[in-house]
Amino acid sequence: MKKMTSSPTYIEVAIALPVYNTYTYSVPENLSELVSAGKRVLVPFGRRRVTGYILGSGKRISREGIKTILDILDENPLFPSSMIPFFKWTADYYLHPIGDVIKSALPGGLNLYDFFTISITEKGENALLKNSATPLENEILNMLKTGSCRFKDLHKNLHKHIPNALIHLMEDRGLIIYNRKLKGGTTKPKMERYVSLLSSNIPMERLSDSRKKIIEAIKGQGEISVRKLKTLIPSAPKLIKPLETAGYISIFQKKVYRDPFGEPISSDTAHMLTKEQKSVISTVTKSLGREFTTCLLTGVTGSGKTEVYMQLAAKAISLSYSVLVLVPEIALISQMERRFRARFSECVAILHSGLSAGERYDQWMRISRGEAAIAIGARSAVFAPFANIGIIIVDEEHDTSYKQEGGLRYNARDLAVVRAKSHNCVALLGSATPSIQSYYNTTTKKFKAVTLKKRVEKRPLPEITVVDLCKSRDTRGIRRFITPKLHVAMEETLVRGEQVLLFLNRRGFANYPVCAACGEAIRCKNCDISLTLHQKVNAYKCHYCGYTQASTSNCMSCGSNKILLLGIGTEKVEAAVKSLFPDARTARMDRDTTRRKGSILKILKGLRNQTIDILVGTQMVAKGHDFPNITLVGIICADLSLNFPDFRAGERTFQLLAQVAGRAGRGTVPGRVILQTYNPNHFAILSAKKQDFQNFYKAEIGFRKSLNYPPFSRMVQLKISGKDKEKTRQHAQAVGDLCDTLKKNNRSFFNSVEILGPIEASLPKIAKRYRWQILLKCLSTKQLHRFLHQIWFEKKANISIRDVKIVLDVDPFFMT
Ligand code: ADP
Ligand code: ZN
Ligand code: ZN
Repeated sequence: MKKMTSSPTYIEVAIALPVYNTYTYSVPENLSELVSAGKRVLVPFGRRRVTGYILGSGKRISREGIKTILDILDENPLFPSSMIPFFKWTADYYLHPIGDVIKSALPGGLNLYDFFTISITEKGENALLKNSATPLENEILNMLKTGSCRFKDLHKNLHKHIPNALIHLMEDRGLIIYNRKLKGGTTKPKMERYVSLLSSNIPMERLSDSRKKIIEAIKGQGEISVRKLKTLIPSAPKLIKPLETAGYISIFQKKVYRDPFGEPISSDTAHMLTKEQKSVISTVTKSLGREFTTCLLTGVTGSGKTEVYMQLAAKAISLSYSVLVLVPEIALISQMERRFRARFSECVAILHSGLSAGERYDQWMRISRGEAAIAIGARSAVFAPFANIGIIIVDEEHDTSYKQEGGLRYNARDLAVVRAKSHNCVALLGSATPSIQSYYNTTTKKFKAVTLKKRVEKRPLPEITVVDLCKSRDTRGIRRFITPKLHVAMEETLVRGEQVLLFLNRRGFANYPVCAACGEAIRCKNCDISLTLHQKVNAYKCHYCGYTQASTSNCMSCGSNKILLLGIGTEKVEAAVKSLFPDARTARMDRDTTRRKGSILKILKGLRNQTIDILVGTQMVAKGHDFPNITLVGIICADLSLNFPDFRAGERTFQLLAQVAGRAGRGTVPGRVILQTYNPNHFAILSAKKQDFQNFYKAEIGFRKSLNYPPFSRMVQLKISGKDKEKTRQHAQAVGDLCDTLKKNNRSFFNSVEILGPIEASLPKIAKRYRWQILLKCLSTKQLHRFLHQIWFEKKANISIRDVKIVLDVDPFFMT
């Protein structure tokens, strides 16, 4: 269609850089018909060319100064325009640059950007010869004579700070030039060779047998990939070219999807629902397709929540809606994916970090083109490019892995609710141990409560025995971590041919190595923290910065080589189990044993096929897996997460213990749990023993209320860090003063904003950086938000200085 007028098109563009504004660009006439929201554009920005995202038509303020886009990078939009308000909301709420929000949402490796290098010119070489430049300039020119390099690398290679202005000056004088080259865009659609028939009257009698077979195969399929043809006729790749030359067939490239699924899955059918399941489904269905509602589904482990998810998904699909399912971890995605694929086959797409960039791109495009009705994924899947969602399901909604740390610090559970609102659809949050926040929302009627009280087929909940570790000593007086009670229970279980799960929320062998001579702890040289001994790899490792040193290292302060290996981790537990039960087949599941792709699945398979008798693991084993033959769960030390300096420590401990306990007795044989602790009377432990969420909630919500913690207030944490101890402290102080002043000057408005700190972080030094924090607390989200805006944008100049970094964490999860 021809455009009637020749007035230029203006578009609003979000730039994939850390800038908070969006920008207006004009579009040259030859590209104007390709413009559509959700596509990427290549635009000039300052001196560079960068990727941006079209958000819609742009406001034309004045013609002057408006730059023109260079290219449109997509054939089809990467996301529907209906998602743009959601992106904008996210950017505003988390005070994060809009372009970076979109970039974090999209599959990686797509964007193009300019890559700059600096090189020396002839004039520069002459200046060196004539020695007419300053000493610093000479240093730079000499360095560039060995080859061009990036501006960044100049600092590194010369070990000193090079002012930007100096480089510009040298460029103006013609001593050096900037070269730019477009980089990126490594993720591309996969192309495959295909063949199809061109002619309908092929003289078959004149063809060889193999060629006849090729023509028959193509005829049967319409078109067929050369790869598949080769499996039927091995010599096919060599024979097709002559067939094309003869004009019988055509060979062409076709976009195909990479297959991330692996082995096919046999299909299943829906269960007959229990009365409880029916009632939950009918409550949720009332809102489906009509209104925005958030439902919190509380249901003990094994009560049939997944079945409820699947039947609700089927309902949404039958009303022509899409379905989004969020799951906390990759290991659980594979389980959810299996069950959904068994029920819904091809229409399932998956999104998680375990996919290659190409696979992720393909899954994204399947969703975007409407070829998949269900997307299952980890937290970033909350951005799946559906235009018309009917229900967003968040399984294990309490799980901390929904919180993204670093980059765009969002909470996918919270965003799922926001997104549901923008689609006017249902958000269904499910958990056996809901978060205090979500449960509180049901008491204020913000969320609707639905419950599954019974386990399917009335399987009883496991019986939990608490063992007081303070009272349990072995003959040598050392507290043993496999207490006699646990030892006996393990023996009994193994004799019956059943499986044991031992849980300890810490990996490694010993996390507190101490010098026997002088008493100093063996510490990381980059962090203010003990190293953990990992016996398997013969090394001390830092769990915060990755620093490693040999296990034979001597004490740094006195040189002694007698090191006491205090503290326990899963490796030590595994070693103890192997010596106590040499005939049992023991395996360990933690981050150390599951680094390689597929290793988690291998362990899970071992459990399912019963080639593993005892599994030792960290919280990785606590989550939603369903293994009917595990009848004993041993919790080695329940207190590890209780002692964290964090107001959610009790909540996390309860959730973790209840979840691990829920792994016992998923089959027909009832389960047992032995819970070892130094705090048998702590209410989180007592409630976990009774598996009584109500009891825990009552105590916990009282504590939150009395201290004005969430859900009664909102929090934002300013994380301040730098390599220089004193500078960091000073800047933290300065930012704290700025907050105080802002509050003082607007007392009436910022009345309820509480400023706590600055204080040194509870992990005061990590990876060579000193860490401080300021906590802002407020009853009103609006006030807190306004306060932040003023600090972050209006005082930006005072806040961001060189050498000290400040990061905002809205609704922080980990207060360390
Ligand atoms: P949850 O997700 O709450 O842990 P699941 O949905 O995994 O529970 O259900 C536990 C087990 O019970 C699964 O093996 C599932 O197939 C089975 N199940 C669920 N609903 C029913 C039902 N209505 N009838 C029979 N079996 C069911
Ligand atoms: Zn020492
Ligand atoms: Zn470290």
